[in-house]
Amino acid sequence: MKKLVLILGDQLDIDSPILKNLNPKTEQVVMIESIDEAQYVWSHKAKIVLFLSAMRHFAEQLEERGLPLIYIKQSPQSIGDTLRDLIPKKQFTHLVCLEPGEYRLKCEIENVASEFSIDLEMQEDPHFYCSRHEFENWVAGKKELRLEYFYRLMRKTHNILVDKEGNPEGGQWNFDRDNRKPFPKKGPGLIPPPELFEPDDITQEVIALVEKKFPKHPGSLEHFQWPVTRAQALQALKGFVEHRLVTFGIHEDAMWTDTPFGWHSLLSSSMNLKLLNPREVIAAVLKAWKKDDLDLATLEGFIRQILGWREFVRGMYYLDMPQMALDNFYDHQNALPSWYWTGNAKMKCMQQAIGQTLEYGYAHHIQRLMVTGNFALLAEILPKEVCDWYLAVYVDAIEWVELPNTAGMALFASGGRFTSKPYIASGAYIKRMSNYCGSCQYKPDVRFGEGACPMTTLYWNFLIKHRTQFEASPRTRLMTANLSRISDTDQQAIVLHAKGLLADLSSL
Ligand SMILES: Cc1cc2nc3c(=O)[nH]c(=O)nc-3n(C[C@H](O)[C@H](O)[C@H](O)COP(=O)(O)OP(=O)(O)OC[C@H]3O[C@@H](n4cnc5c(N)ncnc54)[C@H](O)[C@@H]3O)c2cc1C
Ligand code: SF4
Repeated sequence: MKKLVLILGDQLDIDSPILKNLNPKTEQVVMIESIDEAQYVWSHKAKIVLFLSAMRHFAEQLEERGLPLIYIKQSPQSIGDTLRDLIPKKQFTHLVCLEPGEYRLKCEIENVASEFSIDLEMQEDPHFYCSRHEFENWVAGKKELRLEYFYRLMRKTHNILVDKEGNPEGGQWNFDRDNRKPFPKKGPGLIPPPELFEPDDITQEVIALVEKKFPKHPGSLEHFQWPVTRAQALQALKGFVEHRLVTFGIHEDAMWTDTPFGWHSLLSSSMNLKLLNPREVIAAVLKAWKKDDLDLATLEGFIRQILGWREFVRGMYYLDMPQMALDNFYDHQNALPSWYWTGNAKMKCMQQAIGQTLEYGYAHHIQRLMVTGNFALLAEILPKEVCDWYLAVYVDAIEWVELPNTAGMALFASGGRFTSKPYIASGAYIKRMSNYCGSCQYKPDVRFGEGACPMTTLYWNFLIKHRTQFEASPRTRLMTANLSRISDTDQQAIVLHAKGLLADLSSL
């Protein structure tokens, strides 16, 4: 027997079960840098650097531990084809890996194993609380798949913020109402900066490589300071818990010009590369809560994102693939405006959210959901184009988490499969949650005509178009009630104005 142990670029856990007790005589670890993977989506330069640098640092760690490693640098082929070369060359009879985070790669690895008739052992990824099997069991027989009920079950199953009887800490499961406040009128004030890491020699080498090999890819590397090792990821977690967690919840949804990170944790890329385990992140915030007497609303808001949303979207991804990637509930067909790739939009909110995305490979949840995502839905853009953009531009973007958030949540492309309503908002919401509108050439309260805010016009246009759908649900009925306060003449003017915008999205 000769075993090949495949470590993918987002599985960088030195304590991985597939690395335990390896016999160097019969077992070999392989890591593959595939140029094909970097190009299959038009990735942000920072995303490519993060993956390659983290992989190279991890390879060093494996070598330090004396593990038998084949590290393939810059393979011109896909991961599947690289394996197709390697398996017969070294006569491997077994292939071992963890479940990949991407359905496409999972199928590809299964195909390779079956082509060579070798045994494939695809193990559960221990970086999730809920296995695929457990998620399928939870789904069985349910008419509605909603985060809230899944999240409560996770709290009880893992004994997090519940008492002995399984009741929620503080008497309620959800503290959303206490969170989600805008910044004060004068601005966010001094926010302690997140932990940032100067590129070391390995990262600098990768930066030079990416600038040379992928010069036309979007995004800047000027500010590349993401954690690329487990030690750095642990430092980032410590820094967040000590300095930024305290105000995370209350301003979770707030936005402000030139404030790219707010009070957010910036831990998604480390968790998604498996440099950090979500269990240690949750343990760290629970410890801080007890020690520093932190606000329960902040703590619950943070834990919900990881124990709730992160696990829920992963479960939905594997449940609904490959269909999820094809879903297009509203049959939207518009092209993505080219300024999504440059940030050169006239709308200040888009300029800010996209600008910082290209600069850092980062935007926080509300910028992704209620600015760039909201606009893409209201502007009737083809979901595939939007999803490709999200997968390309964020350093934390891996399909299991990107696709359900984009197609399912932001674009309502899967219909009501796992969200109760489309997340849409007019310029009024952005005005309330940010200062973007103050320096914008459009006016958030103007629905049509000169100076009308495109978010606002397209919002009302969307409601007019889908009035029947919105009226049918108690969760959205109020939105159409507001619509009935707008006169027929004004509604006609909104539709006409929207038609002009939709025909020329690139000019906005
Ligand atoms: C359209 C869209 C696309 C997204 N694409 C991605 C993606 O590619 N990769 C990704 O990791 N997240 C994605 N998210 C979720 C979320 O926006 C990011 O996880 C978050 O902004 C990362 O920043 P942070 O680490 O500072 O998060 P924080 O705000 O500090 O939150 C803490 C952690 O909670 C988890 N989390 C929060 N919200 C979600 C969510 N909706 N789904 C899953 N996990 C969540 C993340 O692991 C995050 O690190 C997307 C959201 C939307 C609306
Ligand atoms: S006025 Fe409209 S387009 Fe301008 S920043 Fe506000 S919401 Fe965005």
